[in-house]
Amino acid sequence: MIIIIISFILLFFIWASADIRSGIYLRCICRGNRMEKAVALTFDDGPDPIHTPRILDILEENNIKATFFLIGSNIETYPELVKRIYDEGHIIGNHTFSHTPSYTLWSSKRIYEDIRKTNDIIYKITGKYPVFFRPPFGVTNPLIRRAVNNRFISIGWNIRSYDTLKFLKRNSISERIIRNIKSGDIVLLHDNREGSDILLESVIEGIKKKGIEIVPLNKLINKNAYEI
Ligand SMILES: [Zn+2]
Repeated sequence: MIIIIISFILLFFIWASADIRSGIYLRCICRGNRMEKAVALTFDDGPDPIHTPRILDILEENNIKATFFLIGSNIETYPELVKRIYDEGHIIGNHTFSHTPSYTLWSSKRIYEDIRKTNDIIYKITGKYPVFFRPPFGVTNPLIRRAVNNRFISIGWNIRSYDTLKFLKRNSISERIIRNIKSGDIVLLHDNREGSDILLESVIEGIKKKGIEIVPLNKLINKNAYEI
């Protein structure tokens, strides 16, 4: 009996830290208003020199504004892509500088410095300090909460594409997204993966067919994307 109880407690703590929607350690916004027939698309882990430009072209062709949660080390390597994302009217969010799994074991001071460093680099390129933060891997814990709270708005998702899994066919990923999507949803995608352009095109087409509008994240959740 005691083993069963301990197993349940362990499972609870794993769920609390691994599922961004749990809100146990860090309150994350995972969706917008269900009353508006609109959703937001978010891209993590860029900028990427091959895939991000193609994603931006597709968004431009469809007159859609998305949100890019950028990794600081990639921003330093490809600042011109960050400028393009910003200049084309998309929102830039903070996805840490290092984006390493070990950050979950860092002190809250070190986590904060990693996030702050990323914001400073973004500011140098855009003149804006992002407010939206997305925890890498969707993992949260009390140290991350201490680093982030009252400084950033943490953004999760409620439609996970699983587009990082290579063995999943891009058309089956888009079919699942389109089947499940509802008003107010925040969709998690990546702009550093093979086939991300094909996936985006079919996701946009399917969402449009359902009569749902794709809007910028700040509009969907009614929050400022940058410090004012
Ligand atoms: Zn990530």
